[in-house]
Amino acid sequence: MNISSNLTYPNESFFTQLKQAPNRLLMLDYDGTLSPFVEDRFQAVPYPGVTELLYKIIAQSHSRLVIVTGRPLNEILPLLNMNPAPEIWGSHGWQHLLADGSIEDFPLPADIQEILNNVKDKFQLKIPMEKMDVKPSSVAVHWRGLSDDKREHFSQHAQAVCQPYKNHAGLELEGFDGGLELRVKGRDKGTSVNSLLTESPAKTFSAFLGDDKTDEDAFTALQGKGAGILVRGEFRETRAKYWIKPPEELLRFLQDWLNTG
Ligand SMILES: [Mg+2]
Repeated sequence: MNISSNLTYPNESFFTQLKQAPNRLLMLDYDGTLSPFVEDRFQAVPYPGVTELLYKIIAQSHSRLVIVTGRPLNEILPLLNMNPAPEIWGSHGWQHLLADGSIEDFPLPADIQEILNNVKDKFQLKIPMEKMDVKPSSVAVHWRGLSDDKREHFSQHAQAVCQPYKNHAGLELEGFDGGLELRVKGRDKGTSVNSLLTESPAKTFSAFLGDDKTDEDAFTALQGKGAGILVRGEFRETRAKYWIKPPEELLRFLQDWLNTG
């Protein structure tokens, strides 16, 4: 764990290894990494210039580019707005859209599905649908940008609804930057990274860019096998090896990745 803020932009050795690698795997979180946080999360489009660079990297045949996000496919696809869509691991590792357009799904156990439906219905009693995030494997409430009163109101209700499932073996309750999420255990961004690494040919150079707590699972999965890169204005404790500040250093990084082709 890196607890000091002496992490830097990826160094020369990073780009030397990238250059020498016959295969490259670039994994990117979306919110807070490729796009800034905005109050309406359905308006969170990539920083200007990002999409063009993603297209160019994908066009490099030796780079496999994968978006690894907590968002479900039906949310991430219109926001990314890329045609053809890149490969995406969505819903914290519960949905996989392959580069050929096919989708790999991971069905939930019936009892878990019932709990998620139930939590969603109870959330709706006091929380408007646009402040909720219902994914195939989780239900979340968002209160970013709301007044203190509303935030408190939403947070109390969400905590109360989720309380009975706090210690459920198959579920995980987690607060994040601006909300609360009840999530099905068993898959996360780390499992996505692991399957991508397993599928990759030997001598693949791998990197993962992410900003929040859920990206730490990915950084952990990459330890000793690739480079975790924290993308964030403010430093925080992380398992990443490098730290870049968006959007300038993000654009520089994607351009550097491309130029190292
Ligand atoms: Mg993020």
